[in-house]
Parts: sequence; structure tokens; C-alpha cells
Amino acid sequence: MIDDTHCELCSRPTDGAVCRRCGTIVCRMHFDAELRFCAECAARAKPTGRRGDTFHL
Ligand SMILES: [Zn+2]
Ligand SMILES: [Zn+2]
Repeated sequence: MIDDTHCELCSRPTDGAVCRRCGTIVCRMHFDAELRFCAECAARAKPTGRRGDTFHL
């Protein structure tokens, strides 16, 4: 049931945004619409300096 979908980071109800990297279901607050990553993956994908050299898919 889609009504039972909750963000795996904050446990709030969500419409079901899914991280395309790790598959974690997150709410909009924890979803990076640009990258389609969850907040955790987005933080890794966008390291300080924006060079991306610490990110390994
Ligand atoms: Zn959340
Ligand atoms: Zn993720």
C-alpha cells in the first residue's frame, strides 16, 4: 500500500521518492530532485568543492 510508505531517514509519510543510487525511499525533504538521490547519497555526490572526486558509484 502506498499509504504505508515512509521516509527511511525521518519516518515521515512520503509519496515515495526513491534514491536511484541506493534505493532508499525518502520524503521530498530528503530527496535531491536534481540528482534523484537520497540526502545521504546527495551529500556524497556533492562534496565540498564540487569536484566529485570522493564519490564512487
Ligand atoms: Zn525524510
Ligand atoms: Zn541513496
